[in-house]
Amino acid sequence: MKKYDVIVVGGGISGMSFAHFSAKAECKTLVLEKENRLGGSIHSEQGDDGFWIELGAHTCYNSYRSLLEIIEDCGIASQILPRQKVPFRLWTKNGMKSFFSRINILELLISIPKALAIKKEGETVKSYYGSILGKRNFQRVFSALFSAVPSQNADGFPANALFKKRERRKDIIKHYTMKKGLESIVNAIADQEEIEIKNGVEISTVEQLDTGFLIKTNHGDFVADKLAICTSLPSIPILLATIAPEIVQKTSKIPWKKVESMGIIVRKDAMDLKPFAGLVPINGEYFSAVSRDTVVDENYRGFTFHFKPDVMSREEKKDIVSLVLNIDITKALKIHEKINIVPSLQLGHYDKVREIDGLLTGKNIFLSGNYFAGLSIEDCVSRSKSEVGRMVGK
Ligand SMILES: Cc1cc2nc3c(=O)[nH]c(=O)nc-3n(C[C@H](O)[C@H](O)[C@H](O)COP(=O)(O)OP(=O)(O)OC[C@H]3O[C@@H](n4cnc5c(N)ncnc54)[C@H](O)[C@@H]3O)c2cc1C
Repeated sequence: MKKYDVIVVGGGISGMSFAHFSAKAECKTLVLEKENRLGGSIHSEQGDDGFWIELGAHTCYNSYRSLLEIIEDCGIASQILPRQKVPFRLWTKNGMKSFFSRINILELLISIPKALAIKKEGETVKSYYGSILGKRNFQRVFSALFSAVPSQNADGFPANALFKKRERRKDIIKHYTMKKGLESIVNAIADQEEIEIKNGVEISTVEQLDTGFLIKTNHGDFVADKLAICTSLPSIPILLATIAPEIVQKTSKIPWKKVESMGIIVRKDAMDLKPFAGLVPINGEYFSAVSRDTVVDENYRGFTFHFKPDVMSREEKKDIVSLVLNIDITKALKIHEKINIVPSLQLGHYDKVREIDGLLTGKNIFLSGNYFAGLSIEDCVSRSKSEVGRMVGK
């Protein structure tokens, strides 16, 4: 049986970035992914004539330094594409409005100086931003706006988890996508010869050997010295139950949510809405609608609506999409659906992370995912980079 230095479970950006840094450190690396595609929440669905829409993540920033390192290592920096400046709008019962139309400027001006006195640490998104933007403003606009970021109600998130200050790279445009969508980053990692990938893998058991791990799957058995678990939270109990139950106990204390995403592609001439980058509804029927208008196409437009889980049927979602976009949904060229999984961070989250890291110390098990530092792609990639550092002793 072929033996690997490390087996990475999960082919989302956490797993693929782990594999990238691991292969870069000359470790023989195998990725096992249960789906037939890689990318997880990075999912650029291809339509006709090379037109794509994002069913999950859509934007990267020049502060994503670890991600940019990968982009450069893979030689795809030339595929970085600027996003057009089109506005984000609110969706209200009276149709599309600007954010400013619902902000009480007086309350904002009175509240904003409090930003000098209040620290984010120990505050929730609601308590911190409610103070510095005004409680009514928070309720009327910002709660919905901030909830669009993690695709769930973000009021109880730690205030320091949502928007982070990171050093920007001035030589890279501020926010960007890739010519063929963000999934091309994952695909470029996968194209590296040094990384072996198996898709469609169902893992039945993970066993600890005297040295290393034995993983039994529907594609046969695999053995490695080290194991990196880079899945979303719901899979962790199944994978670590026998070999690290104490870690399962800690990770199970981090809640998570499903997001039901519906993406639609239409011919440009089938609708007459002005271009917009994204929509945030005030009534909470969905968390956001992200548009492809940020990368203009001659023939097509695309939109992805991120819905609350287990509330609406497919037909009800289609009704909302056609109402909001003011289109005849039967004219849609493609409709794609996808379930994304996101963690729900709460106050005290970073204590839980410290406890998990404490339990990992000295073990040949490595954990990465969007439930450590935060949900962003960069949070995932930098976590993976630091776990590979722990693995190779750097
Ligand atoms: C709608 C949405 C929009 C977002 N927008 C942005 C954005 O614009 N910018 C940004 O920076 N971030 C954004 N994010 C956040 C970011 O995309 C995610 O947090 C990140 O992609 C998660 O990556 P991951 O690899 O940790 O998890 P996932 O993407 O969930 O990947 C986990 C992978 O593990 C696999 N897996 C699970 N269980 C098993 C198993 N038992 N065996 C094998 N494989 C398994 C899954 O199939 C999946 O491929 C967004 C997230 C969502 C949901």
